Amino acid sequence: MNVAVIGSGMAGLTAARILEAAGAIVTVFDKSKGTGGRLSSRSFEGGWIDHGAPYFSSEQPGFSEFLRDHLPAENLQPWQPHVMGLLGADEQLHSIGVPRNSAITRGLLGDLRFQPSTRIARLVASAEGWQLFNDGESLLGCWPQVVIAVPAPQALALLRDQPPLAEAISTVTMEPCWVTAVRSKTRLTDQADVSVYQDSVIRRIVHNSAKPGRLNTNVYLVQATKSWSLSNLEETAENVGNQLQKRFDQLVSSEGASEILFSHRWRYAFTESPLGQPCLWDAELSLGVCGDWCLGRRVEDSWQSGADLAVRMLKYFEEEKT
Ligand SMILES: Cc1cc2nc3c(=O)[nH]c(=O)nc-3n(C[C@H](O)[C@H](O)[C@H](O)COP(=O)(O)OP(=O)(O)OC[C@H]3O[C@@H](n4cnc5c(N)ncnc54)[C@H](O)[C@@H]3O)c2cc1C
Repeated sequence: MNVAVIGSGMAGLTAARILEAAGAIVTVFDKSKGTGGRLSSRSFEGGWIDHGAPYFSSEQPGFSEFLRDHLPAENLQPWQPHVMGLLGADEQLHSIGVPRNSAITRGLLGDLRFQPSTRIARLVASAEGWQLFNDGESLLGCWPQVVIAVPAPQALALLRDQPPLAEAISTVTMEPCWVTAVRSKTRLTDQADVSVYQDSVIRRIVHNSAKPGRLNTNVYLVQATKSWSLSNLEETAENVGNQLQKRFDQLVSSEGASEILFSHRWRYAFTESPLGQPCLWDAELSLGVCGDWCLGRRVEDSWQSGADLAVRMLKYFEEEKT
């Protein structure tokens, strides 16, 4: 098997590692500079800020084992923060990457072939397999099997000419989320490590610096609510930062005593309405699709989806041989 995997988030790298372990030659592409997708981190003043998922659960059988098998022990740690408010199903606490969350996908990548900063814009069927083109219209090569591990709307854009897959994916909806990283000028002694609010602007505040290895102090990740993110979707990062900082200062009672570090818009942050099956595999086309949105809205769902797709592909090719 010679597989191109589009997307180096948890789903894509899980599929890639399982396929590679079974003998496949795997090449991973990502439009970003590094791995991680929505589990990524930004470097900041010699340390790290996790601006996607701040932590994740690992309740499903097999997930923890998979991570332990593929990651150096020091890259994965349990985190037991002080929590204020009610955590949702996608916010149950368990694990973080150390010194940053993207250490997890970096570790999973291992020595797989990786082409970062490469957005796949088009897939074209040919006699040898799928030709992949980047957004400069350059042909990157040809692969007999392709795994698409990107958020549903981005998968749909690549699969518009494949009606059965496109039809299934178009039933999925995803929601945006604006996040702003702020640094408080003083230590917020009354603030929990994770605070979940019933507020119209802010959904959750996570004390990034409370996680081991981040090498910064008083840095908080402020996550806006779904409705606020939707209403401000096309707003500038500067305006969003100002508004989220203002509300942050009010909620944590630190009037005017914080600075904005950066804001990031996740256009497809969370699954709103999932596909309802672990993955899509079209054996005739040799095309597989996976991602959190197949099953839910958590890192764990991405792992499950990527693993299911890889196992399904391996089973199919094994049966083909006999
Ligand atoms: C702010 C925020 C907070 C969250 N909090 C939690 C939480 O507390 N707990 C939890 O479990 N989950 C949380 N999540 C959700 C979690 O991050 C996701 O479920 C999970 O990381 C999705 O992984 P994935 O591999 O399916 O997709 P992604 O991580 O989105 O990976 C897709 C990758 O594909 C790449 N890509 C897209 N299109 C292309 C293309 N055309 N060509 C090449 N590359 C492409 C992207 O750059 C990306 O790296 C949160 C998400 C956000 C944004």
